[in-house]
Amino acid sequence: MGIVVQKYGGSSVADADSIKRVASRIVDYKKAGHEVVVVVSAMGDTTDELIDLAEQVTPKPPARELDMLLTAGERISMALLSMAINVAGVEARSFTGSQAGIITDDSHGKAKIIDVTPGRISEALSAGYVAIVAGFQGVSQTTKDITTLGRGGSDTTAVALAAALEADVCEIYTDVDGIFTADPRVVKAARQVPFISAEEMLDLAASGAKVLLDRCVEYARRYSVPLHVRSSFSGKVGTLITDFESARDFPVSATEMFSDARRQEQENSMEQAIISGVAHDRSEAKVTILGVPDVPGKAARIFSIVAEAGANIDMIVQNVGTNGSSKISFTLPAGDLEATVTALESVQAEVGFSEVQSDDAIGKLSIVGAGMRSNPGVSATLFQALAEAGINLEMISTSEIRISVVTRADQLDDAVRAAHTAFDLDSDEGEAVVYGGTGR
Ligand code: ADP
Ligand code: ASP
Ligand code: MG
Repeated sequence: MGIVVQKYGGSSVADADSIKRVASRIVDYKKAGHEVVVVVSAMGDTTDELIDLAEQVTPKPPARELDMLLTAGERISMALLSMAINVAGVEARSFTGSQAGIITDDSHGKAKIIDVTPGRISEALSAGYVAIVAGFQGVSQTTKDITTLGRGGSDTTAVALAAALEADVCEIYTDVDGIFTADPRVVKAARQVPFISAEEMLDLAASGAKVLLDRCVEYARRYSVPLHVRSSFSGKVGTLITDFESARDFPVSATEMFSDARRQEQENSMEQAIISGVAHDRSEAKVTILGVPDVPGKAARIFSIVAEAGANIDMIVQNVGTNGSSKISFTLPAGDLEATVTALESVQAEVGFSEVQSDDAIGKLSIVGAGMRSNPGVSATLFQALAEAGINLEMISTSEIRISVVTRADQLDDAVRAAHTAFDLDSDEGEAVVYGGTGR
């Protein structure tokens, strides 16, 4: 049997008992004859708590030192998990990201993986050990400093290792039973799907469905790593991120998922579904620039300043007024808001706009589905449902298989539920279960 990479998120290893429960699952896989590599996140909300602690020491911790601090979270869980597996009678060895060969660029806090050289992991597997790897971290090729991959980055560690080791499957274990049609913490009637295409999952993840990180889905697609999302708390079969053709040969033990009846049922329902899911994101903010002279080059100048400030912008709307000036609004990660506004204010006189406004009380809702390509009227259905729920739309953007709207943050949950119902996604099989985690 081949290599299985399993990733356990923070809520799956939140305390000693959870670590022992996860260890026994790993031991079962090992005893069934698999070579097992485990990527583990920091326990519970450890990463958030470490960030809070750093901010008590200084409001702007140096990025290098913050990475040193945060990577300690994953070192704690990797060592404890390794101990628990050893106690259960199977030999395990834990490795930091650097020891596991996760080589990154030098961009602290959001490092990109540029190479994976898992020699020590391969050696440990050959010697019969379960290899435990600290997620979310690597080492810079140039500075040799320890880096982190950005929040939720353990998902990317797992897929990168699975690709480099040519693993049969990368299993992402979390606190819900798989991918749902919306976040089960917000929509109790969300429905779990057995399969979802990588294309749709990528858009859901990029729109805020944090059950998987978009970078991890992208990586999995590029290197053809089969991804399987499931719960570490239940024995349910979970969700495969794949298309039907590859699902037929999917190399996992979840044979129940591929029973002919189940497959047929799913193929039928997939053919009918126009929308595969609703995602929401509370982590963005909005900047509005008023009185921008309506002449060529102003937008170019404004967005080059925004880029230099390091912000990755998302939606952009421009309205041209009748008085020769225009208004430009855009959304960006809330964490980049302050630096971006400061940078824009410093060029106000040069660019000639009248004011910069910022707003961090926004929410973004997105509906995603490949069925949008061939079904007219999807926007109309969405806007009608939101109007009936009394929700005002501040910005709208569309792509081939996604429609996103910006609302007030405090209306976002209602908006998500209204959209979910409007596209007939509500389950009639009872409430979705969330087994753990704080949703932080
Ligand atoms: P982990 O600690 O395992 O990495 P995360 O908190 O990062 O877990 O991701 C799991 C959470 O993602 C779930 O508890 C759920 O609230 C949220 N989530 C958002 N959208 C979805 C979705 N479409 N399907 C399943 N879970 C979702
Ligand atoms: N512990 C890190 C975080 O909370 C990485 C992860 O969990 O994937 O973001
Ligand atoms: Mg996560």
